[in-house]
Parts: sequence; structure tokens; C-alpha cells
Amino acid sequence: MGHYDVIVVGAGGTMGSSAMYHLARSGSKVLGLEAQPQAPHTAGSHHGLTRIIRLAYAEHPCYVPLLKRAFELWRQLEVESGQDLLKETGCINMSPKSLPDSCFKGAQASAQLHGLTHEVLTPAELQGRCPGYAPPEDFQIILEPVGGVLCPERCIAAHLAGAAAAGAEVLYGAAVTRWGVEPGGQVSVQAGPDAQTHTADRLILAPGAWLPRLVPELKSLLTVERQVVGWFDIEGDASHFSPDSFPVAVLDDETGMFYAFPADAHGFKIGKMHHRRQVTEPDALDRAIVPEDEATLRVAVQRYFPGAAGRLNHAAACLFTNTPDEDFVIDVHPRHPQVIICSACSGHGFKFGSVIGEVLKDLALTGGTSLDIDFLRLSSLRKGQAAVLEEFGKQEPASA
Ligand SMILES: Cc1cc2nc3c(=O)[nH]c(=O)nc-3n(C[C@H](O)[C@H](O)[C@H](O)COP(=O)(O)OP(=O)(O)OC[C@H]3O[C@@H](n4cnc5c(N)ncnc54)[C@H](O)[C@@H]3O)c2cc1C
Repeated sequence: MGHYDVIVVGAGGTMGSSAMYHLARSGSKVLGLEAQPQAPHTAGSHHGLTRIIRLAYAEHPCYVPLLKRAFELWRQLEVESGQDLLKETGCINMSPKSLPDSCFKGAQASAQLHGLTHEVLTPAELQGRCPGYAPPEDFQIILEPVGGVLCPERCIAAHLAGAAAAGAEVLYGAAVTRWGVEPGGQVSVQAGPDAQTHTADRLILAPGAWLPRLVPELKSLLTVERQVVGWFDIEGDASHFSPDSFPVAVLDDETGMFYAFPADAHGFKIGKMHHRRQVTEPDALDRAIVPEDEATLRVAVQRYFPGAAGRLNHAAACLFTNTPDEDFVIDVHPRHPQVIICSACSGHGFKFGSVIGEVLKDLALTGGTSLDIDFLRLSSLRKGQAAVLEEFGKQEPASA
């Protein structure tokens, strides 16, 4: 086996494919290892045709600079690949006035803090402009014009094609079962059914929901959760749900937070953050859709988008990997400076995929990055992480 500058684990996923792209284009000799037989695929966190991207970000003020760079990089990837990857539809955040810490309040605070273009609309104004929406009278609504929809499968394919064009190699069906750091400092990785060994100077671990397997110290921090999205038939005027008249939606009410998209080939798509809060092992994900799954989604379609409350046409189960505060973990491994750890999900990571790949490349090649990711580092001592750092302080796990 040849020796590489960098090995990327999870190369067929959102973050891994982007890291491959940025590394290969920087001139690095890079090997990607992907457990699945092809990419993109439906086994992890990235399938389902659409992902929301937005700028006004209630989750943490430091995400906004990352998002600005993410937008730039997605646009660059579009130009380079010749693919349509991002459709700007605008983004609505809406919530009842009475809800404390609502997505409306968070998005408005973020827009004001960062000077982002936005409009506050009344329910009647929103319904007048976007008839697919039926917001209750007590709702507060913010419209951000730059939000929109990414096509996740195409984004991953474009990153992988760009990486391959720049000389990157990927092995599919190559699940990494063990990794370690040799006495001389190089990393070695065993992958695939025949446990082939590969070596490199640096290692990026971006295996999504499988990260706790490869970095057991993170087990107590990361919770893998079943997530279901449903596509409903439009019963009213289909043009009300087209990308030109339906901005992507983030909304919360007393039951939780929902996100919805303009219609695609399967119909009107909606999901509920954390769905039915079902913790799962990634390989044991229950993909069967049951009536409770449909009911969880249908209640919001009927309340807020009644023109799309037709038959459930399609549904898919997917994986969230959550941290307790729902902020990502991106850092250099506390014991091994040549190993980079990435867990960027908690149900909102896709939009950052382009910029996180760049950050992972920077961390792998230089140990640092010009983008502010301090709030995502393990060392930022967030809720639930002190114990995790203690785990890293213990001796090397016997097997990764
Ligand atoms: C239903 C749903 C809706 C979402 N909606 C949005 C949204 O609207 N906007 C948004 O920004 N985000 C959204 N997200 C979150 C976003 O999709 C994820 O944050 C993102 O896809 C995570 O990327 P990842 O690279 O960590 O995981 P993945 O894309 O799953 O990639 C991980 C890869 O690692 C591979 N792998 C695992 N173990 C190994 C191993 N041992 N060896 C080799 N390879 C391995 C896997 O096969 C996989 O290819 C949503 C997620 C879901 C599930």
C-alpha cells in the first residue's frame, strides 16, 4: 500500500467528500475510505433530495461567518461542476408570539446582530405572498431572502468528482475497523473485509453516526437518533408549493420544531426535529415507516400547509448524531495532533458541508484554521463535555 499525506474516513459522506475535495485541490495525496459500496447513499445522514441552507442562525452567533463562507464555496462548486446544487427560495422562520426562545426570535436576533437582510411579515402578508403557507394569526414571521435548498446527493457527487479530478483516490466498501498512531507519528488504518492497512501522515475521522465506534471517548457525548421525513401529495394548487413561490420553512410551536421544503419529485417534504426521539444504533436503524411516523408529521402539514395535506406519498428514515447542546464537534484529537475529529450533524450540518471540508483540510495540513471554530472544539467545555475530556485523558482504547 502507498503512503498518503491524509486519509479521510467517511469519504462518501457529507463532510468526508468535502474534505477530500479541498485536500486534493490543495495538492495533497489523499486516500478516502468509505464503508458503503458507493456514494452518495442512503445508509447515513445525507439522503432525501433536499437540505435547508440559511444565514440567520438562531443556534449560535458564530455559525454565521461559517455560513457566509459555506454559501461562497457551494456557489464555487456549482460553477466548477456545472451542476445546480443550491436553489435560493428564501427562508421563513415562524413561531407563536407566546413561545419563549422561538426560532423567530432567534433568527431575528441573529439577523440583527450580523446585519443580515430580512423582513418581518404578518401572517396575512406571508399568506398573500406565499399561499402555500397558512400561518395562525398569533404567529411572528421573518423572511430571509438568501435561504434555500441544497441537493445533498448532487453536492456529494460534485465534491467526489472534483476530488477525483484533482487526483484523490477512494476505496468503497472499505469500513475502517481500527486506527492508531505508530511510534514514528504516522497513522495506520485497517479497512475493508480483508483488513488492509493504509498509512498516512494525517487522519480525518468523519464517519457521521459511526463516530462513537471509532472514537469511543465520544460515546457519552453523541446520541444517534432515528429521523423521518415525509412527502405529502399536494391537494390544492401545486404552484403554491413550487420553489419559486414557497420559501423553505423553519417553524416551531408548543410541540417542537418542523422544517419544510418546496415540492420535489415525491411531493411536499416535511420533517420534525428529533422526530419521535428514538435513539438507535446506526446499523440497526428501523427504516419501516409506521402510522405514528406519519401522524407526527401530518399534524404540522394540516396546521400550517393544508394545501399539501394529501396522501403520504413517500417517507424515509435517516440518522441524526446529536451533541447535548446540538453544536458540532470539530477538533484535533486531544492525544494525537495528527488526527482530526469531525461530528457535524445534530440535524443541521449539511449546509456547512462545503466550509467544514475546508476547515478539516486546514486542521489536517496546518493544525489550525483562519475560520472561528473555537466554539466547536472539545476544549470549549460545553455542556456534557468535561467528562468527555476526562475520557480522552485515560489511556488509549485497546481497539478503535
Ligand atoms: C432527515 C434529515 C434532514 C436533515 N435536514 C437538514 C437540513 O435541512 N439542513 C442541514 O443543514 N442539515 C440537515 N440535516 C443534517 C445533515 O444532513 C447532516 O448534518 C450531515 O449529512 C452529516 O454529514 P456526515 O458527513 O457527518 O454524515 P454522512 O453524510 O452520513 O457521512 C458519514 C460517512 O461515513 C461513512 N462511514 C461510517 N463509518 C465508517 C467507517 N468505519 N469506515 C469508513 N466509512 C465510514 C458512512 O458510510 C458515510 O458515508 C438533516 C439530516 C437528516 C437525517
